[in-house]
Amino acid sequence: MKLNKIAVIPGDGIGPEVIIEGIKVLKTIADLDQRFQFEFTYFPWGCEYYSKYNKMMDEDGIEKLKEYEAIYLGAVGFPGVPDHISLWDLLLKIRKSFDQYVNIRPITLLNGAPYPLKDVKREDINMLFIRENSEGEYAGAGDWLYKGKEQEVVIQNSVFSRKGTERIIRYAFDTARREKRSLSSISKGNALNYSMVFWDQVFEDISKEYPDVETSSYLVDAAGMLMIKDPKRFEVVVTSNLFGDILTDLGAALAGGLGLAAGANINPEREFPSMFEPIHGSAPDIAGKQIANPLAAIWSASQMLNFWGYESYGKQVLAAIENLLIEGKLLTPDMNGHSSTSEVGSRVVDII
Ligand code: ATP
Ligand code: MG
Repeated sequence: MKLNKIAVIPGDGIGPEVIIEGIKVLKTIADLDQRFQFEFTYFPWGCEYYSKYNKMMDEDGIEKLKEYEAIYLGAVGFPGVPDHISLWDLLLKIRKSFDQYVNIRPITLLNGAPYPLKDVKREDINMLFIRENSEGEYAGAGDWLYKGKEQEVVIQNSVFSRKGTERIIRYAFDTARREKRSLSSISKGNALNYSMVFWDQVFEDISKEYPDVETSSYLVDAAGMLMIKDPKRFEVVVTSNLFGDILTDLGAALAGGLGLAAGANINPEREFPSMFEPIHGSAPDIAGKQIANPLAAIWSASQMLNFWGYESYGKQVLAAIENLLIEGKLLTPDMNGHSSTSEVGSRVVDII
C-alpha cells in the first residue's frame, strides 16, 4: 500500500472550515481503494500564529514542508495582519521556495451551478487557465525612485526570464496537446513594450514545435470582454502572473462564484511539493459561522487526486460536486441555499 503524505495548512478565517471537508472527501476516496492511503500532518501557521509568535510560519517551515509531496492549504490573511505580510511570508514564500511555477485554475461551469450569463450556453464555459506563478509582475522587484512627498515616484518592475517564460508556455502546449484542445495566449504586447513583446515572441517560437495545437493570441483587455461575450473560444489559456490572477477571478464569477473556484500550484518536475488551495481568501465576513462553501476546497482536493495519479477518483469527486449542485438541496448561502459547510461536505461524501 502506498502512503501519500500531505502537509495541511488550514490557515485563517474560513480556511480551516473548508479544509476539513476536503479531508473528509480524501479519506473517503482512500477508503475505497486498498492500494493507497493518505497521511495528514497539520501545521498551525497563518495570521493567528503571527499574532502569537510574530511570524507567519516557523523559520524552518520550508524545510519541514519539503518532506511532503503535496500541501493542502485553506487560506491565509486576516484583518489586523497587513495583506502583504500574510501573502509574502507564507503563500508566496511557499510558491517561490518550491518553484511552483504553474498555477492551474479550471473554469468549468458545472451543471446545476449558479449561472450569471443569459446568452451563453452552459457547456461553452469550459476553460483551463494556466497562469505563470513564479515571476512576471509578482516578482517583487521595485523601489522608491524618489522619496519625499511631492516628488515621490515608485517603481514596480516585472521580470520575464527566458527560462521562466518558456517553461510555462511549454507546459501549456503540452497540456493542450494532451487534451486535444486549442491554446490561447493572453498578453499585452501593444502597451507593455518589453515584457509582453518578449512573451509573444516566445509563444510564437514554441508554437512551431507544436504544429498540431491550434493557437490564438489575445490582448488582455479584449480577452476580459470576450470571456463574457464569447467564452467558448477559450479552451486552454496561458497567461502571465498578474493577468492570470485577475482573469481567473473573473472566470470564477463565470463558473459559479468564488465558492466553486479551485486552484493548484504545481512544480511539474516534482523536485518540490505542489500545493492545492481554493482560490478564495479567508473571507473574514463569514468566518466561524459554518456557512462557507467547501466545494472549492473539495475541487482542489480532486486536483490533488489527479496529481497523485488517481485521475479516475479525481473525476469521481468532481462528478459528486456536480451531482450535489444538480440535486440543489444541500447548498451554502452563497448559492442561495440554507445548509452548513459540513452538511455540504458530508453530502459530497455520501454521493461518492
Ligand atoms: P483575501 O485577502 O484573503 O484574499 P478577500 O477579502 O480578498 O480575502 P475572499 O476571502 O477571497 O476575499 O472573498 C471575498 C468574499 O467572497 C468573501 O468576503 C465572502 O463573502 C465571499 N466568499 C469567498 N469565498 C467563499 C466561500 N468559500 N464561501 C462563501 N463565500 C465566499
Ligand atoms: Mg482575495
